[in-house]
Amino acid sequence: ENPTLKVENLHVSFKTHDEAEIKAVRGVSFELVKGETLAIVGESGSGKSVTAKTLMRLLPKQNSRITEGEIYYEEKNLLTYSNKDMQKIRGSEISMVFQDPMTSLNPTMKIGKQIMEGLRKHQGLGKKEVFTKTTELLELVGIPNAVERMADFPHQFSGGMRQRVVIAMALACNPNVLLADEPTTALDVTIQAQILDLMKDLQKKTGTAIILITHDLGLVASMAQRVAVMYAGEIVETGLVDEIFYESKHPYTRGLLLSMPKLHASRSTRLIPIPGTPPDLGRLSEGCPFAARCPYVMKVCHNHNPIRTQVSKTHTVSCWLEDERAPRVEWQG
Ligand code: ATP
Ligand code: SF4
Ligand code: MG
Repeated sequence: ENPTLKVENLHVSFKTHDEAEIKAVRGVSFELVKGETLAIVGESGSGKSVTAKTLMRLLPKQNSRITEGEIYYEEKNLLTYSNKDMQKIRGSEISMVFQDPMTSLNPTMKIGKQIMEGLRKHQGLGKKEVFTKTTELLELVGIPNAVERMADFPHQFSGGMRQRVVIAMALACNPNVLLADEPTTALDVTIQAQILDLMKDLQKKTGTAIILITHDLGLVASMAQRVAVMYAGEIVETGLVDEIFYESKHPYTRGLLLSMPKLHASRSTRLIPIPGTPPDLGRLSEGCPFAARCPYVMKVCHNHNPIRTQVSKTHTVSCWLEDERAPRVEWQG
């Protein structure tokens, strides 16, 4: 089966005002097939949102650049698309729920109108059908009195309600790819469950491929089949959920899992943060970006960034510990 989305060796940089180059995404590659959910996890600043925004071609124009790589959607190279062609795909074939719901809302337009415009533009439905579909969607994401609330502006909604509106908008056009960046963080557990069910239903019905960015392991377990672990702009480990949860090979993955909240964990379960901080993305060395924090660091790690190794058909890791090519004699770090 051909992948719906194929990302190859993607590099994204930002320029700061003092002309330094921040390498936010470095050599990210992955594939996504129809109907599957890939979770992306990683500490704050690891490049998860930048990766998602790059796929939508929504990076800030002034200071960002895709320096290398390709993005194929249904075998078409998205990086060769004009902005106009990209607009046609955005919100209809690929849609995104942003981490900050205000990013996707127009503050000066009534909520109902915003959703209806999207539907009309992309699906060619009649006025009445669009209205009915919009109210249905708002009810499905748990917005009471949907018909009345359609006349409200974004600022009249609470944070959680706004997030639901944004989710309704993203699901409205039955996208082929849904990029969900922390989609349910501001929501209480009941609504969260409701929205996850909605996403799963959509996926079952229309085969939507989902990229789920989250800090919540419970969400990963209940939604995803595969996980990509990001660190300092790189995917350092990928695998099936069980391979990552129970057989992770990368020292960072193991540390990250201990630092993330789990489903059904008792309140007293301590989260253990990974000691140290991620490297400065403007001044990376040649070595493994995790070297300064890694309990297993070896000499080779300081000088050479590890190369991706295949652990199983579905599991890859970038760490010298797992690589037979690493010079084993040099144990001391
Ligand atoms: P979080 O879990 O906190 O959402 P993240 O993994 O989504 O983190 P990103 O938002 O992808 O992190 O950011 C990756 C890096 O890119 C960060 O170091 C950030 O400072 C940098 N970055 C992101 N957006 C911009 C921007 N518009 N201008 C300059 N640097 C940026
Ligand atoms: Fe640690 Fe070396 Fe593996 Fe990097 S390559 S994670 S420093 S053991
Ligand atoms: Mg983010």
